[in-house]
Parts: sequence; C-alpha cells; structure tokens
Amino acid sequence: MAGSLIDRAHAGIRALHPYQPGKPIEELQRELGLDSIIKLASNENPLGAGAKAREAAAAALADIERYPDGSGYRLKAALAAETNWSAEGITLGNGSNEILELATRVFLQPGRNAVFSEYCFAVYPLVTQAVGAQGRVVPALTDGDMPMGHDLAAMAEAVDENTSVVFIANPNNPTGTWVEAEALTAMLNAIPENVLVILDEAYREYMDEDLCPDYLALLNRFPNLLVTRTFSKVHGLAALRVGYGLSAPNIADLLNRARQPFNNNAAALAAAEAALGDRAHVEASIEMNRSGMQQLKDGLSEFGFACLPSQANFLTFDLGRESQPVFDALLREGVILRPMASYAMPDWLRITIASEADNQRCLEALARVTQVT
Ligand SMILES: *Cc1c(COP(=O)(O)O)cnc(C)c1O
Repeated sequence: MAGSLIDRAHAGIRALHPYQPGKPIEELQRELGLDSIIKLASNENPLGAGAKAREAAAAALADIERYPDGSGYRLKAALAAETNWSAEGITLGNGSNEILELATRVFLQPGRNAVFSEYCFAVYPLVTQAVGAQGRVVPALTDGDMPMGHDLAAMAEAVDENTSVVFIANPNNPTGTWVEAEALTAMLNAIPENVLVILDEAYREYMDEDLCPDYLALLNRFPNLLVTRTFSKVHGLAALRVGYGLSAPNIADLLNRARQPFNNNAAALAAAEAALGDRAHVEASIEMNRSGMQQLKDGLSEFGFACLPSQANFLTFDLGRESQPVFDALLREGVILRPMASYAMPDWLRITIASEADNQRCLEALARVTQVT
C-alpha cells in the first residue's frame, strides 16, 4: 500500500482548517495575567443560564452513573409543545452544530455540493468539506439595505444537479443580516424538492417578531426543509451543547440513524427542558439585548464605525482599517472581541451585545485604542 498513514487520511479532512472559536477568558488570563476580562466574542448570553436550567442541570448530576435517555423523550415532548411540531419531526443534537454535521453526513458525499453564501457561518464550509463534498459559495449582496447578506435568488440559481444541501442562516453569523420572508418562500419554491434546505435559526428569538419566518407554514409546505435551533444563545446553555432540528419525520429518521446513541448528556437534556419552561429568562435576555444593541450602535456610530444591520445578539462593524491590531490592543485592555479576518473581512470586528456595564467598558476601551475621543 502506497503513501504514509497521514497521506492516506481523508482528503477533505486533510485540507480542513479547524474552526477558530472566540478567545477563551482563561487563555487571555494565562497570557497577560489580567484580573478583569470581559469576553464579547462568542455570542453568549450576558445573563447566563436561567436559575431553573442551572438547578435542573445540577439535579441531573445525581445520576451520572446511568446513561442518559438516548431518545431525548422528555425534551422532545417539551419542544413539540413549544414549537407545535410533532416529536417525530424533531432531532436533538449536541449543539445545533451537530445537526448541521449530521445533515451533511446524511445528504452529502464526494461528487455532490452544498450551496452557501459568502460571509456565511464558518461551520457550513467545514462540515461540507469534512465529507468530501464541494462548497459552492454565492457572492453576498453588496448594496441595498442588506449589505453582505445572503442573495437568496442567486443561491437558488447556484443549485445544480449535484447540489444536495443549501444552507441559509437567518439571521446570519457573522453579519447579523436577515432574509425577507417572501424571498425565502420564493427561494424554496425555486429549489427542487430533492435538495435539502437548511434554515439555521440560531438567533431567531432575538429577531423582531414580524421578521420571523412562519416556520410551521414553511415546514408544512416544503418537505425538504430542515430548521435548526439552539439552546446556546438566548437560553444561555452554550457549554452544555444542545440544539435541535425540525423537519419532516423521514428526514429526522435519517438524521437519527447517523447520530451517536447518546449524543446529548443528561445534564444538557434536563437543563434544556427546564429552560423551555423559563419564559421570564428568555424575555429578560431579549430585553437586555434590545437595549444593549441601541447602546452599542449609538456608541459605534459616534466613533464613526459603520455597523451591518443586525437582528441577532451581536454587531459587526467596519474599522476602516485592519482590525487585528485593534483586536490585540483590546486584549491588553481585557476586552475580547472577535476578529473577522478568517471570514475574509479583515477590517471588521464582531461584538456580542452584553450587559450595559460591559458594553460601556468595551466602548471606552475601543475609544482608547482607536484614539477616536
Ligand atoms: C452559534 C451558532 C449556532 C449554534 O451553535 P451550537 O452548536 O448550537 O452551539 C448555529 N448557527 C449559527 C449561525 C450560530 O452562530
């Protein structure tokens, strides 16, 4: 057999660049020894998890010698009640990231392709490449009221006979941009039913209600639609890794075959179920985001930095010059933002909307390091 062990590894994996997460607080602590650090880099909930979810997770630790419920029966039942979608059409994932990965493992293979937008969530190209399929990147919108947003009409046109998956993030990360409900319906109409369309709604709860797509109407009308959601953002459970997909039962059945038997741990299942019952925490999180968004928008525009339109829990803004030195200077101030060079946006930074005090600290640090005031 020719070739070394490493050379014979899966070509898609060998060519992968691993996902670059936001810089962890502990890592910066180790590097610079600062005692006060704020991380506004991974779109985590500044209120944290709700008390009900925390208590449920802690209670679940009493039984850690037992395997968790591999069917996720209770969480699925709670999600079915929450979403009005039947439990047979719900797939649980270790984060919604796992649902994205399962979908590509089920529907993609070498010779097939996935369509996604320029400036889309970094995971889409990664999971596509990992299974040896091709990514077809569609140029983002350049002007109009949604700069750098998805061009749904162009994405539908990019679908060819080898396309098996189309990814849409609404709102998109890292841009915060969103799609119009009408354009989404038109796109779904234009795409053949033998192509899986993934609508990633990781930030749905933060959207203005009148901008949220009618997911039930869409799911009922388009049997090739998979809607993904997460407990990592508005529910504040990022560390526990829980996400889910809503789809026709035959798609859920395939995703379920591909997953690990116990892909959600017991603490995560319990916490997610409790989080669904904590409407007050969700409302408080949305409210904090609404006021913090205004605070940061005002501050950034005062400094002359243009923000992309956002319906999410972050703002992405243009420094008008290379952002890496500003990112580094902010680290020395104990403020972690997200540099955007890996998204081919080297002049941009992304900031997660946080508490009023942390937003203020971030704005003051930014003013110092960019010398705008
Ligand atoms: C954060 C995020 C997710 C969710 O990630 P989890 O794996 O559920 O933590 C999915 N899609 C987008 C666009 C995101 O920004």
